[in-house]
Amino acid sequence: MSFDSETAERKMQFLFALRSKGVTDARVLGAMEKIDRGPFIRGLFAERAYQDMPLPIACGQTISQPSVVGLMTQALKITARDKVLEVGTGSGYQAAILSQLARRVYTVDRHKRLVREASEIFRALDLTNITALTADGSFGLPDQAPFDRIIVTAAAEDPPGPLLAQLKIGGIMVVPVGQSDAVQSLIRVTRHETGFDYDELRPVRFVPLLEGLGRDEAQR
Ligand code: SAH
Repeated sequence: MSFDSETAERKMQFLFALRSKGVTDARVLGAMEKIDRGPFIRGLFAERAYQDMPLPIACGQTISQPSVVGLMTQALKITARDKVLEVGTGSGYQAAILSQLARRVYTVDRHKRLVREASEIFRALDLTNITALTADGSFGLPDQAPFDRIIVTAAAEDPPGPLLAQLKIGGIMVVPVGQSDAVQSLIRVTRHETGFDYDELRPVRFVPLLEGLGRDEAQR
C-alpha cells in the first residue's frame, strides 16, 4: 500500500472505532478527523497513536483513549461562541480537539513540562485559540472565569467547588468522579439559575486530580 492510502485507511479505521463507541456528533467527528493524534504521542508508543487506547506520556501521565475524548467532547455540547476551561492538559490532544469547536480554550496542568510540550505542538499546528498554563486546576482559572464549558480530565472525589463556581449559568461541566483506581463515573453538571443538575454518563478510568504543582516544578 502506498503511504497515502495507508494513511487514509488508518484514518477511516480510527473514525469507525469512534463511531462504534458512540461518538456520533458530526462536528466532534470532524474535529477528530482534522486533528492528528500522532504528534501528541512521543517515543515508543507513537506507532499506536491511531488505536483506541490510552497511552503513556511524560510525567507518568496518560493521553486519554480517543473514544473517551470524543464522548466527553460530545457531552459538553460546545458552541462556537464558548470559552472553555480544560483541567489536565496532559499531551494537549483534548485541548486541540476543543479548539476546533470553541471560540477560546484555556488548559491548565500541574506539570510545567507537559504545558511546555503541548504549547509547542499548538504553535506548530497554528492552534492560536488555545492558552496553556501551569497551575493547580482544582482552583480553576479565576482570572478568566466564568466559563461556558469546563472539562476535567483527571478524577476528583467530588466536582471541585471552585470549578462549579466558575461555571456560567447555563454552562456545562464534564468531570470523572470517584476514588483513584476504583471505578469512576463520568458526570455532567449543568448550572441553572437556582442550582446544579447532575447526570451520570458512563464508567471511566482517569489518573487522579492531585493537589499543588508537579514536584519537578516545586523544586525549581
Ligand atoms: N487531557 C489530556 C490527558 C490528561 S491526563 C490529554 O488529552 O492528553 C490528566 C492530567 O491531569 C495529567 O497531565 C496531570 O498532570 C493533570 N492534573 C492532575 N491533577 C491536576 C491539577 N490539580 N491541576 C492541573 N492538572 C492536573
